[in-house]
Amino acid sequence: MTAVLHPPLQAGNGCHRRSRTDGTRPCPRSPGLPTPRPTGPTGPAGTDGTDGAPERIGLFGGTFDPPHLGHVAALRAVSRALPLDRLLLVVANDPWQKSSTRAVTPAEDRFAMAQALAEGMPGVEASRMEIDRGGPSYTVTTVEALRAEALAAGRPVPQISLVIGADLLADLGTWERADDLAAMVALAVVSRPPTTAGTDRPRTAPPGWRLEWVEGPLVDVSSSAVRDVLERGGPVDELVPAAVMHCIRRRNLYAVHR
Ligand code: ATP
Ligand code: MG
Repeated sequence: MTAVLHPPLQAGNGCHRRSRTDGTRPCPRSPGLPTPRPTGPTGPAGTDGTDGAPERIGLFGGTFDPPHLGHVAALRAVSRALPLDRLLLVVANDPWQKSSTRAVTPAEDRFAMAQALAEGMPGVEASRMEIDRGGPSYTVTTVEALRAEALAAGRPVPQISLVIGADLLADLGTWERADDLAAMVALAVVSRPPTTAGTDRPRTAPPGWRLEWVEGPLVDVSSSAVRDVLERGGPVDELVPAAVMHCIRRRNLYAVHR
């Protein structure tokens, strides 16, 4: 499968300033942050809650350790394919299925990198809601929080598209309260090249899930591969957006020094 790599995103002001106190705060967002893009041919659907239409939210969660051009391709494919009001890049506080098996980069560093990525992508918002909630990051809880937030503001329950790479389809049953989650979201599954397992992925939804397939350019990058290359001192220019690389250097992550 041919990897199609996007050009690196422009470096925003993602990571050139640190907190005055401990240097661990995420980098501030640009004051000129683009607003979410208008939706489909009929225009925005209830973004201000005044027309009574539910907000359409794309929820792309992950560890993002680090974010890379495969994530960028997935976000672009989803924002092209779905008429969304918001597209959230939700950084897991504690990716419990991973943190039990390997050391995970601190959440604030992963958030800073996600923010650096989002700054180069109009309409994409890095979200720290799972970090602020603390504890293990369960997607079902995040979805419930988004629904509760809308109801508390007098808006209808949002329509949530849960964006996942195709590699995760087979794992959904292991997620916390998977049945409850399936009842609240539709899946937007982005094609992903076969990984080392080399298997072709099924395209059907597991029982109980609604699924929409999002075709995107297949970008053969994973965070694991990026970490491996970085830790060996190799170049990742074609794997990671420039703004994320800047953030990695600034924070001395993955044994990379400025
Ligand atoms: P790791 O190698 O550490 O598992 P990862 O590259 O899979 O990292 P995650 O943060 O685990 O990245 O993934 C977040 C989401 O992004 C998941 O839904 C995953 O399937 C999706 N994703 C990751 N890489 C790609 C890619 N190259 N193409 C499409 N989707 C991807
Ligand atoms: Mg993964």
